[in-house]
Amino acid sequence: QKDEHELSTFLDSGIYRFQNSNAVFIDPVRVLNRSYTRFRVSPSAYYSRFLEPKYAEKETKVSSNSKKRKRKQKKPHILNERERAADQRHQEVKPVLLKAHEALLGATDLLMIMGKWRTEICSSSECGVEQSFVELGRVWQAPMYEITFNFNQGNELQYCSFYRCEQRVLPLFNNLVANETCDDVEAEILTRRYILPRQSCFFMSDLGQIHNLIPAESNCGFNLIVIDPPWENGSARQKSLYPTLPNRYFLSLPVKQLTHTEGALVALWMTNREKLYNFVQKELFPTWGVSYVATFYWLKVKGDGSLISDLDLFHHRPYECLLLGYCSLEEANCKYQSGFRAIKDNQIIISIPGDYSRKPPIGELLHEYVPGPRPARCVELFAREMTAGCVSWGNEPLHFQDSRYFSGK
Ligand code: SAM
Repeated sequence: QKDEHELSTFLDSGIYRFQNSNAVFIDPVRVLNRSYTRFRVSPSAYYSRFLEPKYAEKETKVSSNSKKRKRKQKKPHILNERERAADQRHQEVKPVLLKAHEALLGATDLLMIMGKWRTEICSSSECGVEQSFVELGRVWQAPMYEITFNFNQGNELQYCSFYRCEQRVLPLFNNLVANETCDDVEAEILTRRYILPRQSCFFMSDLGQIHNLIPAESNCGFNLIVIDPPWENGSARQKSLYPTLPNRYFLSLPVKQLTHTEGALVALWMTNREKLYNFVQKELFPTWGVSYVATFYWLKVKGDGSLISDLDLFHHRPYECLLLGYCSLEEANCKYQSGFRAIKDNQIIISIPGDYSRKPPIGELLHEYVPGPRPARCVELFAREMTAGCVSWGNEPLHFQDSRYFSGK
């Protein structure tokens, strides 16, 4: 009966909490859809990499090819000191990851639903060339680009017999653009359509302009700060998808200035490199004024519940880390000290990945750990999408708001 309850909660919320486990499964499409009233995030567009059979095959081929390449090249590799430390970290968390995966494989009702997704999803209807906001923001005309909101007043006045559409035109870059209504809004940029969730906000700029996000009063700051930096790594695929930055650039992120008077929970997405782990613990968090509290792991599975790659594959682990810490302004320090202990370490978030480097929406999973005002005042740094109640900042926060990623109206 408890399982039944979990399943019906999952169908509403997109979050499935396994019994007696520190793991949850999330369906990002269901979670994201809670930000929308009229539009729906398209599962085929979200899950194109790991659910559509042709793509799943391609991904498997790519990873088995790289395995083959590795096998061919293989001479017994002696781990250096850093690799040994990384391996030790991996060995420590491996039983927790395996237990979480077992919990998923034991949830047959959930696996059945996931199985249906594969047959239910159909090809995305809209296509065309996507806008590259990174490119658009670099040209000299950037300050002249605009976004046109088409407010659909017919929806708010649903019992009226008339239908009115109001337009509003705003600068696209270096500007805080908000949809303050309680409804999704359609917007146009050049020739493409974008869908903005209710009560959401974006600021599209380069890192050099991020200071414009700092609130004039710290009680208007943020108490949940999610950061997914464009870390450098060797992947050519990543390089062609978005620009990356050397680590030292992230030291200048104004995390403390963005923090609410009552403190903030800071959630930082990481890759599995030991060097990066050391940089974050020894330099980045101390510079930001963040005290480390716990690590969560994002375990990536395919539509049939299997891991996207072998758990022991050294350079392609099927998981990523989310480091959690608190940033507190001096006066809030004592008040929230108890909160530091409340987050249980090693929690696992399982989901089927979307596009390359797209992270699952974790805001709701973190809300119980956020100090200060409710609803949480959330900002996502280096965002590529928007969610209700959150400010999205980066050089392409509208990337996944393109109407091609949505279905219906
Ligand atoms: N969290 C995102 C998601 O789930 O889709 C992925 C973020 S991705 C790891 C990093 C983002 O930072 C990319 O969108 C990239 O274009 C952006 N970025 C890179 N250099 C930047 C800069 N100088 N200023 C602002 N954003 C930048």
